[in-house]
Amino acid sequence: MIPGPIEISPAVAEAAAAKPSSHVSAGLIEHFGSALERMRTVWKAGPEAQPMVIAGGGTLAMEIAVCNLLEPGDRALVVNTGYFGDRMAEMLDRRGVSVDQLRCEPGQAPSAEQIAQALDAANYRAVAVTHVDTSTGVRADVESVCRLARDRGVLSIVDGVCATAGERFEMQAWGADAYLTASQKAIGLPPGLALLVFSARAAERRASLTTKPPMTLDLHQWQPILAAYEARKPSYFSTPATTLIKALDVGLAEIGDIDAAVARHQQVADAMREGWSTLGLSLLPEEDLAANTLSAIRYPQGVGPELPKAVAARGVAVAGGLHPDLKTQYFRVGHMGYSARRPDHLLTTMRAVGEALGACGHSADVEGAVRAVASRI
Ligand SMILES: *Cc1c(COP(=O)(O)O)cnc(C)c1O
Repeated sequence: MIPGPIEISPAVAEAAAAKPSSHVSAGLIEHFGSALERMRTVWKAGPEAQPMVIAGGGTLAMEIAVCNLLEPGDRALVVNTGYFGDRMAEMLDRRGVSVDQLRCEPGQAPSAEQIAQALDAANYRAVAVTHVDTSTGVRADVESVCRLARDRGVLSIVDGVCATAGERFEMQAWGADAYLTASQKAIGLPPGLALLVFSARAAERRASLTTKPPMTLDLHQWQPILAAYEARKPSYFSTPATTLIKALDVGLAEIGDIDAAVARHQQVADAMREGWSTLGLSLLPEEDLAANTLSAIRYPQGVGPELPKAVAARGVAVAGGLHPDLKTQYFRVGHMGYSARRPDHLLTTMRAVGEALGACGHSADVEGAVRAVASRI
């Protein structure tokens, strides 16, 4: 129950464990084409958007977005809500981009007014935001970022690694330009795939770059390949991770109706928060900023990083803190993807955390917390 890699469904596990097929076999072509179509649905992206799948992780997806939309001399704004905002800022800096940051205290997120003001303060090529910062469990106001950017002719890059398929997102309606994720979080696959969707405006920006991206990360290299697969034709540029692409098609199909999937994540998050509160625990994020996909929970008085170990001793893996400023003051529990569809995973987790708290000297109403979750899922 860490916030990625998450538990995967039996069907996804079976697909990912199959013998690797050729990248030009009829079966793989069908799965690849179908997976790209399903990405458009999950992202709510229009027909002019370009989905991209490449072997790698979320960090690679961030790098691909950065080097296709920006080049040395550009200026960018990072709406920074934690650890992954810092990473984005460093990545932009390495690309030779001048970076300004709109920062906030851990657990908080800048308001739409602050974002608008920051965007108006300089001539930005792009703004980057983390949809859910996995280090703080904070959800940013991505709709406002994208709409404000679009109004000002600024490109938007959204890191959705801990959000996609668990948080509301509408690529086309909001006018986002690059929305990226990785396979091992709410998408529900093993680690190994970087997933992005680019807008038509992002593709135009790539066309106007004078400093090209590295060849393997270049949207222009991949566009004809991806278009061919979506048209169910064989193609080759660099060998795709064929077993994972099959698993991607299966996993995206399991997500089903995206609105229902997001609503389910919201329901599960509300239920888990009721459980934490019954255990006497408080969250790191401010009330209305807490994400659907994970909880970042403060240790109670007298308890510290021994708690995740005590939870592990009860058969459940949860994660420690990640934000550099307060690493030892909180822990994190993922509730996304397959586990969000498994009440037994959620209840076992609540019980394990409750019992571990007792073992660490903080007596808690374990039965009450389990009942609180059970009645809401
Ligand atoms: C996990 C994560 C990443 C990094 O993904 P990797 O696959 O570990 O490279 C980036 N951003 C966010 C918000 C994440 O949760």
